Amino acid sequence: MPIYMIVVLKPNISKKDESAVLKEIRKLGYRPHVMRGIKRVVVGAIGDERTHKSLETLASWPQVEQVMPVQKRYKLVSREGQKTGSVISVRNNLIGGPKFQVMAGPCSVENEAQLLATAHAVQKAGATILRGGAFKPRTSPYEFQGLGVRGLKLLAKARRETGLAIITELLSESHTDMVAEYTDIIQIGARNAQNFQLLIAAAKTGKPILLKRGPSMRIEEWLLAGEYILSNNNPNLIFCERGIRTFETYTRNTLDLSSIPIIKNESHCPIVIDPSQGAGRVDLVAALCRGAAAMGADGLLVEVHPNPAQALSDGAQQLNLDGFARLMESLKPFIAAAGRE
Ligand code: PEP
Ligand code: MN
Repeated sequence: MPIYMIVVLKPNISKKDESAVLKEIRKLGYRPHVMRGIKRVVVGAIGDERTHKSLETLASWPQVEQVMPVQKRYKLVSREGQKTGSVISVRNNLIGGPKFQVMAGPCSVENEAQLLATAHAVQKAGATILRGGAFKPRTSPYEFQGLGVRGLKLLAKARRETGLAIITELLSESHTDMVAEYTDIIQIGARNAQNFQLLIAAAKTGKPILLKRGPSMRIEEWLLAGEYILSNNNPNLIFCERGIRTFETYTRNTLDLSSIPIIKNESHCPIVIDPSQGAGRVDLVAALCRGAAAMGADGLLVEVHPNPAQALSDGAQQLNLDGFARLMESLKPFIAAAGRE
């Protein structure tokens, strides 16, 4: 991969000191490009970091002020490396293609009746992928932790009954084989978004990975976390924005919709929006979904429950079945306006 380094020389150095730097740059296998300012000289150097030594050793030279890489730190997720958008195939559903894909279902799988009622309803309304947490990352250890493997089995049953693909969270490296055996997409939760060993284990299953943005992650860190998936030979990465922690208290998180065009610019990987964790408020979900569709997201991950008031987790942010059907109807013009189906 060619790289571009910038070597900034100290002001007013001698011609001899300058030539020595240029000679060293050439010796290390890079092509120097000299930019002469009034006071100082800046040298751009182009080369291949896989086959040549790093130029960073130059930073210790007395006539050198700074050595900086210009290329992005992420490579495989980068749009520079791959111009066309990636399309991820999940049981005949394409994410990142013309169709706006909606993943919907309860925050947690609670019991068979709850999951199946939700699965049938979201399918009827147009969702193609069923979500549901079996292993739940809960802030308090005293809160409902999920049904575990029983939840995975219920998800598999819902898939058999409806044909919907399923997505569920992988919470721990030690569950990798078990979760991969049941799910079609592995969700990496916000709290684990920089658990690099977990990312590697998930990538190695070969399953599509939905990577949430961590609540305090910068977009660059999120892209680099995604790089862990692709650099472990799994090209099937979907980014999921779910809000970040700010000073705001009206919402549970601040849903950063600006990440949609940024991810689209920086990366070829699809991005979906989770307005449920994003706002933490059911009354805001529809507006955020419309915004996400209009801004060019590839899909949504939405929490839906037959009876949100009785939900064992995240009751305040889950749509009921009718609310979800209405949302899907109201999204149509926004999906069309964004040029999607
Ligand atoms: C969830 O999707 O229910 C969830 C726990 O999400 P996050 O990891 O974004 O908090
Ligand atoms: Mn939730």
